[in-house]
Amino acid sequence: MTKKTGNTRPQPVLRYYDKRGINEAFNQFLGIDDADRRLLQRHHNTLLEGGEEFAEIFYSYLQAYPATAEILRRHQERGGEIASLVRTQLQHLWNFLSGHTDDKSAERLAQVGGVHQHFGIEPVWVMGAYLLYWDHLHARLQNNPLIPPADIPKLEDAITKFLFRDMGLMLEGYWEASLQAVEAEHRKVEELQQQVTSLLANLPQVLWSVDVINNRPLYVSPTTRKICDMTIEMPIPCLGWTVPEDRETVQRAWQQALLGEQVEVESRVQAPGEYAMRWFRRVFQPYRDASGRVVRIDGLMEDATEAKLTIERLHMLATTDSLTGLHNRTLFHDRLDQAIASARRSMSHRNVALLLMDLDHFKEINDTLGHPAGDAVLRLAAERLKSVLRDSDTLARLGGDEFAILLPEARDGRKTAEVVAKNILACFVKPFMHAEQELYLGAGIGIAVFPEHGEDVDTLMSRADVAMYGAKHRDTPYVFYDAASDPHTPERLQLSAELRHALEQQEFELYYQPQIDLHQKRVVGIEALIRWRHPQRGMVVPDQFIPIAERTGLINPITDWVVAEALRQCRVWHAAGYPLRVSVNMTARSFQQPDLLDKLQAQIRSLGASPECLEIEITENVLMADIENAAKILERLHRMGITISIDDYGTGYSSLAYLKKLPLHTIKIDKSFVLDMANDDNDAVIVRSTVDLAHNLGYRVVAEGVEDQATLDLLVVLGCDSIQGYFISRPMSVAQIDRWFADCPWAVGG
Ligand code: C2E
Ligand code: CA
Ligand code: CA
Repeated sequence: MTKKTGNTRPQPVLRYYDKRGINEAFNQFLGIDDADRRLLQRHHNTLLEGGEEFAEIFYSYLQAYPATAEILRRHQERGGEIASLVRTQLQHLWNFLSGHTDDKSAERLAQVGGVHQHFGIEPVWVMGAYLLYWDHLHARLQNNPLIPPADIPKLEDAITKFLFRDMGLMLEGYWEASLQAVEAEHRKVEELQQQVTSLLANLPQVLWSVDVINNRPLYVSPTTRKICDMTIEMPIPCLGWTVPEDRETVQRAWQQALLGEQVEVESRVQAPGEYAMRWFRRVFQPYRDASGRVVRIDGLMEDATEAKLTIERLHMLATTDSLTGLHNRTLFHDRLDQAIASARRSMSHRNVALLLMDLDHFKEINDTLGHPAGDAVLRLAAERLKSVLRDSDTLARLGGDEFAILLPEARDGRKTAEVVAKNILACFVKPFMHAEQELYLGAGIGIAVFPEHGEDVDTLMSRADVAMYGAKHRDTPYVFYDAASDPHTPERLQLSAELRHALEQQEFELYYQPQIDLHQKRVVGIEALIRWRHPQRGMVVPDQFIPIAERTGLINPITDWVVAEALRQCRVWHAAGYPLRVSVNMTARSFQQPDLLDKLQAQIRSLGASPECLEIEITENVLMADIENAAKILERLHRMGITISIDDYGTGYSSLAYLKKLPLHTIKIDKSFVLDMANDDNDAVIVRSTVDLAHNLGYRVVAEGVEDQATLDLLVVLGCDSIQGYFISRPMSVAQIDRWFADCPWAVGG
């Protein structure tokens, strides 16, 4: 079939007579001789008579037929004159009566034929004109006294021959002009075909066309060999090489195309003897005939391997975390969305559980051992996590040290999540090995369950996040979402709106809790603890609004107020003969504000206080969040003479050995270890070792949360320096503490 598409130009018609010889041939075949010529020349003038009359006849002939009348009309429209047209026509017709039969006259006749053809004057009209003319001459010959009777038949004979010569040569002109037109068309078609062929040869795609009625190929582009070196299989090109698993898909697509649909189908192809599998993309474009029946399918076929691989790579990149090879956030959201949809559809009230997990100590590893170590640990953590999950669970790394786990189709979401959370936490018991170093990591997990905690991806994600935040801050390894502690619930939002006005409305108040030095048996310090006297809610404790203030940025003006108020009160006590140090608490955001030191300096100066009176309490996590920056701030605070205390020690992720480089003064053991230490040996061991280690490093140790005598006694035995707690006193208002100073068994100040 491909061969036929080559040169379709017809062979030129072989003519016996060439252009020149044709005149001679006419003369010869029509038997025109000198006698005929002489006879015509002799009666030339007689025959020309009656010309005007004939012009009339000729003109009405042209007008009598719609086609010819139309030609005249158009000629006039273009500004041509009918009279001159008729005259030219007649002139031409009369010409042959001159008896000339030379090549020149023949050439002119052919030319006239060519012009007629060019203007679309059909031969049949010309023949009609010749007949008219012949009738006219015939009438002129009859009983014409100017012609000798003996000449009449000979003249008739001669006129007939010349008329035929005239008509024939004229038609030769038609013929010649038509041939040239056809030739020109052919050249154009050939050029076009050449262009198309080279275009198709350059196209990497294979184009083909199949007659589906007779099941035979109509066209296959020259590049077929590049893509599939085989005889075309009918009716679907290259189906034989398509891998068996994919053939049905292709055949189904073909059936669809037969029904009149444009289809696109991708399939794998394996060429015989070739190891590599390739991807083919085929497009089937059906073509219908006038009755609407699909008669032909045009197709395109291309090697889509590269494109397919690129798409796969892009998909991989778009859905995979390159560091751990786990899924990324995008894919995780998709999966969660699907899981929610399918749980919603299922009749058996299935749950979906979502676990968000954040590693403890990770930043520390990154900061101290470098990013390659951090990366290695993340990879190891990913491996361990994978090992405790089922294939149907989705594990993703959302970024940083944050992982997400999706448990679809849980019968009891809470229970399942709890089991998985415990398994996950168990992964972190064993240390991670990096460069022969043992690294201990912890994890905090926040859990949200569909439909209990939310019914869409965003809600579940943000609630699991809130829960995770809770896990980190309450130091509980895993926490289910709880609306009561969610800062985003309507109640919390209300509180945060009201918090904005609390400062200007002077709704804050400081309570004070004394700190006792066990060696000197005297009150040495006072911790300032904020309270919010809310007009409707009454006394709001700091745990309920400090986190909100921290998140909304309101914390800094609040901290400023606390520092100023505490320093002011401190001066009052000094003046009253109680030389006490006052401690204020600082969140990460307040501690990290760039102008903290300038502000503190200004406040101390303007209140005429001494920097030694001020102690700042920060948690380990505040330090760890940005250790380098924290070290700089601590250094400057130290130089100013302000003391620093590490609050809630033991709940964070730092190690004392790590803290030893920092200019710290005090370690405050978190009350969770102290509250029950008299009964719980584990707690007692922790407190004991913390006291010993802190002392070795030169820190003062404070135990907070001392609620009874037994704890106090034990702390004395362990060598703890100071205590704070309900057993000594609850936090008190200024008025209360003044009375307390007067009545308490301890010396105040020093
Ligand atoms: P914190 O710094 O650990 O303060 C000690 C908390 O433990 C205080 O709670 C105190 O009332 C309580 N406490 C003291 N002794 C005992 C005891 O023997 N047993 C028990 N169970 N609890 C005891 P409070 O006043 O509700 O403050 C809670 C937290 O709010 C503070 O924990 C601190 O982190 C934060 N906070 C308080 N005031 C401020 C402030 O002015 N600024 C900032 N940024 N945070 C503050
Ligand atoms: Ca504190
Ligand atoms: Ca504390």
